[in-house]
Parts: sequence; structure tokens; C-alpha cells
Amino acid sequence: MSENEAPDDPRGRGGVPGVLKGLATTARTALRPSHTAEYPDVAPTLPPRSRGVIALLEENCTSCMLCARECPDWCIYIDSHKETVPATTEGGRDRQRNVLDRFAIDFSLCMYCGICIEVCPFDALFWSPQFEYAETDIRDLLHEKDRLGGWMASVPPPPALDEKAAEPGEVAAVNRPARGAGARAAGAAARPPRTVRPRVVRGEEGT
Ligand code: SF4
Ligand code: SF4
Repeated sequence: MSENEAPDDPRGRGGVPGVLKGLATTARTALRPSHTAEYPDVAPTLPPRSRGVIALLEENCTSCMLCARECPDWCIYIDSHKETVPATTEGGRDRQRNVLDRFAIDFSLCMYCGICIEVCPFDALFWSPQFEYAETDIRDLLHEKDRLGGWMASVPPPPALDEKAAEPGEVAAVNRPARGAGARAAGAAARPPRTVRPRVVRGEEGT
């Protein structure tokens, strides 16, 4: 055997057995059904918590700016102005509230970290699994509030709570009996009757 000749290969690499093994693998694979995702003809099955696009529920947004401040990419743009809400009761004070003028997310910068959704204290932002919003012009990836609001239709309902989970605070608050006569009556009915202790008159003690 010369120096350049390949030594005996027990695994069949490089020799006829190796070629046969390769052909057998090819034949086996060719007979297997294909797993190619036929998108866009067949929609893919996405995991339930897919991060496709961010949807905005405008009614819940108070323009607090928390999401814009926490966004690591600075790709949330919010404009708002203050509006005076007249007092509803006589002698009451007028209130001020924020009115949202602009809410936009630039998805060409967004890195889908989800921080904005996590920090929003008013449940105004949600993940939608919708991902078909590719654009030929990168500037069109800037979604204004109307477009962000439109994504709400594709936000899946939240998963059911665990059977033994504690009642959520907001549900408990809604179910709590209202203050007032009804509540007082219910409280009185639930309270055990008061026990009146017999008074001990001085002088009778120890008799
Ligand atoms: S997902 Fe992250 S990067 Fe995208 S807008 Fe929200 S905070 Fe910014
Ligand atoms: S989306 Fe949430 S965090 Fe962002 S401004 Fe509106 S209320 Fe604040």
C-alpha cells in the first residue's frame, strides 16, 4: 500500500459500501412524505403565544408614556394633549385627562422583546400572532394607531385560568357587594346576634 492510499475504512467511507449506504439513505428519504411548509397556500400552525405584531386597545391607553420610555429601541411614538372634563357634581372640581393624538410603533426597529406589553399598566397592548405585514418600502412598517388598533381583531383570547387559581383582583372587585343599604342588610344578616351580658350591680357582687 502506497503512502497516499486510503487505509481500510471499517465504516465504509469512500468505498463501494459507502456509496451503497448513501444510495440507501437517498432511497429511504425519497419515499418518506414531505414536511415542506406550503406557505402561503397553507397557513402555518402557530404556537398560541406567537409574537407577530403588537395590537393597541386605544380605549385603555392613558398616554402614560411608560411603554415608550421602557422600549429599548425607542420605536414607540406617542403624542397627546390634556383635556378638561367638567365636574359632574355641584361644587366638584373639573378634571384633566390625557387624549391620545398619536400612537405609532416602527416595526422596522422593533425587536419584539415584549417589554412594552409587559409594562403597560392599563392592558392597552397585546400580542397578535398576525405576521403577514411585510412591506416593500421600509417606511410602511411604521404602524399608526388605527393600524395598531386593527390588529386587535386577531388577538387570541387569554388562556383559561388554572382551576385552583385565586380569583383575579379585578373579578373579585366586581363581585364584591356594593356599599349601601343592600350591603348593610346583607352584613347584618350574616352577623350573629349580639349577646347582651347581664349587668352586675354593685353590692350584688359575690351574692
Ligand atoms: S416589543 Fe420591545 S422593541 Fe418592540 S416596541 Fe415593544 S418594547 Fe419596543
Ligand atoms: S400603551 Fe400602556 S404604557 Fe403605553 S402609553 Fe398607553 S397606557 Fe401607557
